Amino acid sequence: MAEAALLQSRPDRTRKHSAGAVSFSASGGQLPMEVCERAARDLTDWRRTGRGVLELPFTGLAFKDLLAEAIASLRALLHVPANYRVLFMQGGASAQFSLVPMNLLRGKRAACYADSGYWSRRAIAEAQRYCHVEALAPQRVPDGAAEAAYLHVVSNETAEGRQYRIFPDAGALPLIADMTSDFLTRPIDISRFGLIYASAQKNVGAAGLTVVIVREDLLGSAYPATPSAFDYAVQARNDSLYNTPPVFAVHLAGLVLRWLLSQGGVEAMQGATERKSAMLYAVIDGCGGFYRCEVAPEERSQVTVCFKLADEALTRRFLDEAQAQGMLHLAGHSRIGGIRASLYNAVREEAATALADFMRDFARRRG
Ligand SMILES: *Cc1c(COP(=O)(O)O)cnc(C)c1O
Repeated sequence: MAEAALLQSRPDRTRKHSAGAVSFSASGGQLPMEVCERAARDLTDWRRTGRGVLELPFTGLAFKDLLAEAIASLRALLHVPANYRVLFMQGGASAQFSLVPMNLLRGKRAACYADSGYWSRRAIAEAQRYCHVEALAPQRVPDGAAEAAYLHVVSNETAEGRQYRIFPDAGALPLIADMTSDFLTRPIDISRFGLIYASAQKNVGAAGLTVVIVREDLLGSAYPATPSAFDYAVQARNDSLYNTPPVFAVHLAGLVLRWLLSQGGVEAMQGATERKSAMLYAVIDGCGGFYRCEVAPEERSQVTVCFKLADEALTRRFLDEAQAQGMLHLAGHSRIGGIRASLYNAVREEAATALADFMRDFARRRG
């Protein structure tokens, strides 16, 4: 009987991720269905123990194994060099906006920040509470390097849809990157960076977990008033278990990371991301000006495709019709408007094809 119920529920659930509803939301990424099903099962019965994963004490061996496996998967996916530590922290990228200066100023009074858009400015505003910020154009090589502690960049500007293809030369400074919205969508040469951080909810699972990858020599000089839970060196020394970690978000991340490995890793994700975004940009550029993308072609994001309708009065209708066809959360960032399609790893190529078809059809009918 249980089996009959399971079979009955199946068509409905697969539909959600194929022909049916797809979330193109920027703020919370879709999760692969097999990961969701596994996570749901693990809530009540983890590895056939009859106990739920949330009951695991974070100090126990089982949880330590689970955490170590997630970190090992991440190291394998990104080929993280041995002199880097992977930390699982909390507070999101927004907390990192403060934690980066608190931990990495190392007695200096200034830092360079590339200003590439909305999230750069959020990072800058926060850093200004701790140091002098020299704001630079996105590709400028910092010159006042002697005074500055690091160069900070936002790898993918999620509000505008602008992404670094080539990261700027940081000169002698450690390069620090907020990779929240394009983390694990392409290979990264970690050795070019001093530190990378990413909130988990876009490409690694659930909010509550923040991934930090930091070069070891940068650890240990935090500003004295830094809370211990937010001191990278303290978390590194305690293998991210200084205090209770977000157990379920860590477990979910482990499942997502293992799924990514099974799919061919970030190299395969890069190929898929390129194909998905190329389809949408081809429609944007090929509809005789019905759609327009304000980002220069060489800066266009492959993960976050932002565009406007030339007749902005049609935006609402576009969103309503898309939603009626199961394409959800396509509204642009509240400060920017227009349309935004986020193509995180679990958004399948079929979903991007369906969106491209819809866009072409909408332009034909309304153009
Ligand atoms: C979503 C996002 C953030 C904010 O993340 P929180 O987890 O909400 O703090 C920061 N930076 C970028 C690039 C983002 O896309």
